[in-house]
Amino acid sequence: MPEGDSVYRQAAQLHRVLAGRTLTTCDLRVPSYAAVDLSGRVVDDVVAHGKYLLCRIGDTVIRSHLKMEGVWHVYPLGPGHPRWRRAAHTARCVLATDEHQAVGFSLGELVVFPRSESAQRQQHLGPDLLGDDWDAQEALRRLRARPERAVGPALLDQHNLAGIGNVYRSEICFLAGVHPSAPVSAVPDLPGMVETAHRLLQVNRLRPRRVTTGTASAAVRTWVYGRDGQLCLRCRSRIVRAEIGEEEDRRRGRDDRVVHWCPHCQPQP
Ligand SMILES: [Zn+2]
Repeated sequence: MPEGDSVYRQAAQLHRVLAGRTLTTCDLRVPSYAAVDLSGRVVDDVVAHGKYLLCRIGDTVIRSHLKMEGVWHVYPLGPGHPRWRRAAHTARCVLATDEHQAVGFSLGELVVFPRSESAQRQQHLGPDLLGDDWDAQEALRRLRARPERAVGPALLDQHNLAGIGNVYRSEICFLAGVHPSAPVSAVPDLPGMVETAHRLLQVNRLRPRRVTTGTASAAVRTWVYGRDGQLCLRCRSRIVRAEIGEEEDRRRGRDDRVVHWCPHCQPQP
């Protein structure tokens, strides 16, 4: 599952090659949009909103979500141009200008809608951690609206605040010294936790490699995420990995329940 910072980076990369340019190709490889052709139109911009990538072309928006496997690649065109680094049959969207081709592979979602519907289409999202209009108070209000809910799933719920994926929610809980199963109401400093989330995503949004520990050494880029069985960098206890989720996650078969934590630094509630 992507984190908001990687979607932000992909949007910035697409924006650099597409914005202000005329599309020579617009190939949406999804049956319901097979007839949509925006070639000849000029791309206004490509922006991230939470974990959505929005390509805005006149009065039309192409919205994609990477979900588990999705990725956008940019390829230069012209003599000796590189081959696609993913299988062609997984391409869902190809947007090209005279100079570049942007290809969305294995996108979890691809929808096209009129720009006038943007607000309505995105209204299920809480404040965007990487948005210019980030609103910490509103994020806190939404989190506190369900005080009994476990904080791990609450941080991942894009309706509360948008941009946190599996990596950040584990890291944020560790930095707050809070077990991911603890109820929101038991978090001693919820504003501090939300501030940490904002800071981590902001500092990582343009870094090539995500770092939450303040060191770029490969072995210790995260405190707990992906480090199960290894020693906690603070207390030398063994990091634990488990699935915590809510009934609604299980019903939807969502694969975003894995959490890592330190049993000593983050005692069970
Ligand atoms: Zn520890």
